[in-house]
Order: sequence, then C-alpha cells, then structure tokens
Amino acid sequence: MDYQQIIENIYEKVQQYRQIGKQADYIPALEKVNPDQIGVCLQTLNGDQYQCGKADTRFSIQSISKVFSFAMAFALEGDKLWNRMGKEPSGSAFNSLVQLEFEHGIPRNPFINAGAIVVADILLSHLPNPESDFLDFVRCISQSETVNYNFSVARSERSCGYLNAAITNMLKYYHNIENDIEHVLQFYLLMCSIEMNCKELSKAFICFADHKKEFNYANVHLTASQVKRINAIMLTCGFYDESGDFSYLVGLPGKSGVGGGISAIYPQRYAVTVFSPRLNEKGNSVVGMKFLELLTTETKESIF
Ligand code: GLU
Repeated sequence: MDYQQIIENIYEKVQQYRQIGKQADYIPALEKVNPDQIGVCLQTLNGDQYQCGKADTRFSIQSISKVFSFAMAFALEGDKLWNRMGKEPSGSAFNSLVQLEFEHGIPRNPFINAGAIVVADILLSHLPNPESDFLDFVRCISQSETVNYNFSVARSERSCGYLNAAITNMLKYYHNIENDIEHVLQFYLLMCSIEMNCKELSKAFICFADHKKEFNYANVHLTASQVKRINAIMLTCGFYDESGDFSYLVGLPGKSGVGGGISAIYPQRYAVTVFSPRLNEKGNSVVGMKFLELLTTETKESIF
C-alpha cells in the first residue's frame, strides 16, 4: 500500500473543506490558533512514517489526552474502575450536566468530561507525582522528551471553565470524587493542555494498535486484552455525540479533541493523526473526519 501517495491525494481532496466550521473559542487561548492548517501523519506498526502538511506543528490535544489518562487509570485499577463510571456511549454532549444528574454522578464513559474528571481523581489518588508521572508516560509513548503541558492554556480554560467546575462539584456531591475538587479540576485541565504534533500523536497511538502483546511503557502495564478494550471504548465513545457517525463513515477506533486533532487506529497496521482546527457542531474536526473517511474508503482498510 503506497500510503504516502494516498495521503497526498486525500490531502488535495480535503482542501475544499478547509474553510468549513469554526475553531473552538470557549477556551480563549485556542481562539488564537490559525484555523486553516491541516497536518497528517500515518505511522505503521513496523515503524514507517508518512506525513503531509503541518505534521510537525504542535497543537492542543485536549480530549485526545483522555485516552492516555484512561489507560493509566485502567492499568492502576483494572475493572474496579467500572464501579465509578460506565462504558456506554453518552448520546449527549461531552460536557452534559443533565445526564450526570440523571445517572446519580456515574459518568457514562471515560471519554466524556465527567468520566475523564473521575479518571483524573483516580490518578491523583494513586500517583506519587501525578503531573510528572502523566507527562513521563506521554513522553515515553510518543518518544518525545519535549512534549509538554501548556500552562497558559490550562489557566485560560480554568478562568472560564464554569461547566467543568459544575461537573466536578456534582461528582463530589455524589461521592465520586475523593480529592480536593479544585485540585482535580486543575489536573484534568492540565492533561488536556498537552501540546503534540501529528507525528508524536501517531507514535503514541501506535502503542495501542497491537492487541496481541502486552503494553509496557513507563510505569503503565496493560494486558493485551485491556488494550483491546481501550480500542473498543474509543470506537463506541471516542467522538462525543458523533461516535456512531464516525464508526459508520470511518470504521476505526479513535479519539478527537476540540483542538482540532483526531487520532485513529487500524489495529495491527497503523495509527493516523489528522489536525485541522475548524470543528463541526458536534466538536469534531471537519477536515479530520473527511480525511479519515476518504482514507478508509480508498484503502478499503477498516475494522469492518
Ligand atoms: N478541555 C476541554 C473541556 O474540558 C476538552 C474538550 C474536548 O477536547 O473535548 O471542555
């Protein structure tokens, strides 16, 4: 398969979608990002890397970080973690408060904000140095020592993060938060603020593409079966209220973020990341969705 040629062709085809949608502006620091960029990197399991456009430009990974934090918490707690959250698609917005109240403080899954905030609480309870332990893990899987938090993005989001604060308070009310709520909220936002480029993200996601062997990176150890299950949750819950559409159009497990990134996995073969900041009304990158739809259609490679 000539992936370089394929991604270059698709890169040309998606240019027509470059101006559609709007970048996230509810986080003031994200408003300043140039909205018309497109970056792509596809990394195969045997180490080949193919790239196009702004593959070296770092961006705010936002909710893509939820895969990494969940992997860490799953390694620490195993199935015990399911006492505190579910694994069903939410069918509602990623920051919905209504559903959380209706379900008495048990988030639907680890990839909506409420679930990821509980995951942040679990990490705070277990890790001796949560901030550096999480960063070390992300640096290890992305093979990049310079990947870092963007503290000003985290602060900027905190300054107007009323909804996430409300979610954290409600979780505490239902006894689903053990630590100080302000500490949990700040740690959650800090994890979202990590900046990576398409190459680094594809390297990180390729670690989840091999379901036949154990996952051992930094201090995070997962069985092959746990890695398979993380992929299952990405497929059913990775795209907010658009997970069904993504599965229908693309057919790969993956995770998106409001910074405009989408990383997806074709198990046993490759991980691919597309970055383009303009989002559709569900919060997913317009170009990212289209790019991946064309990729799996043209290569006929998807899990279905
Ligand atoms: N930090 C963002 C929030 O909590 C992440 C949202 C996202 O990427 O989905 O709203």
